[in-house]
Amino acid sequence: VFSRQTVGRFAPSPSGRMHLGNVYTALAAWLCAKSAGGDFLLRIEDLDPVRCPRANADQILSDLEWLGITWDNPDVPYQSERTVIYEKYYEQLTGKNLVYPCFCSRAQLHVADAPHASDGRVVYAGTCRRLTDAEVREKAKQRRPAARLILPDTDITFCDGCYGPQSFNLARDWGDIIIRRSDGVFAYQLAVTIDDGLMGVSQVVRGCDLLSSSAPQIYLFQTLGFDVPEYLHLPMLITREGARLAKRDKAADMGFLRQELGRPEPLLGYIAWLLGQISKPEPLKATDILPLFDRKKIPGHDLVIPGNYWEELKLKS
Ligand code: GLU
Repeated sequence: VFSRQTVGRFAPSPSGRMHLGNVYTALAAWLCAKSAGGDFLLRIEDLDPVRCPRANADQILSDLEWLGITWDNPDVPYQSERTVIYEKYYEQLTGKNLVYPCFCSRAQLHVADAPHASDGRVVYAGTCRRLTDAEVREKAKQRRPAARLILPDTDITFCDGCYGPQSFNLARDWGDIIIRRSDGVFAYQLAVTIDDGLMGVSQVVRGCDLLSSSAPQIYLFQTLGFDVPEYLHLPMLITREGARLAKRDKAADMGFLRQELGRPEPLLGYIAWLLGQISKPEPLKATDILPLFDRKKIPGHDLVIPGNYWEELKLKS
């Protein structure tokens, strides 16, 4: 029986310095891939050149090295350099008549009666899908359109490694999605799928804020002719007040943590504890956690990070 070699990945968007949430995702993804005897690949998701300057990406590589989270692809792909590749697949989709131009402004999308997905996102009502060719030509004189991918009224089901069986309806939970912005930048959903497909990724480990994104991505994998990876979505890190841990939380910032701790072991051990791998936090190297790691122990609920969590880590550093 042929079984696919495990290929995992970490795909950060370098819109700032790494923070605790990114380190947690990176370590979990590395442990999942390595414990399966697989490869672990790094990819920089800097599609938006304004939000993602090169210096941030360099800092991510340096932070990962400091943490001892190693990657197996010496040539790390940068999405900002892969436009030609995305064009090719974009043309496949337009050739299948699956793409149409959308002229709607942000304000038009967020009208009071706009349909919403179960998680509160606005679902596009399909307004521009119904434009005639003449209307498209007329509107194109006024503004550059974004490009939307038609998503069919189809259920996508998969079993998540942490959250179990999932089912999303593409039309109801997503509606037609933007795959290329009006400024020409390709959108996350398209680029991430093409890259995971081309890099042979078989295992996607990431935060559960992207759980529902797996549905349009699975549809895209199938439509573009790639194998669908397995998914494991990680519980969110939240504050005591129940808010998502944000980049602005100083104590979660890698610059702060590197300076305060001086070495990565207390931080990595803390994350191993968050991931349910050890009964109390103790300093460990990434390679010490690997032989202990059991992905079935990852908890399936949000994890509370007290504001002063790092003080205890500092005592152990
Ligand atoms: N680049 C995305 C982020 O940093 C993650 C993409 C993914 O893991 O699919 O939020």
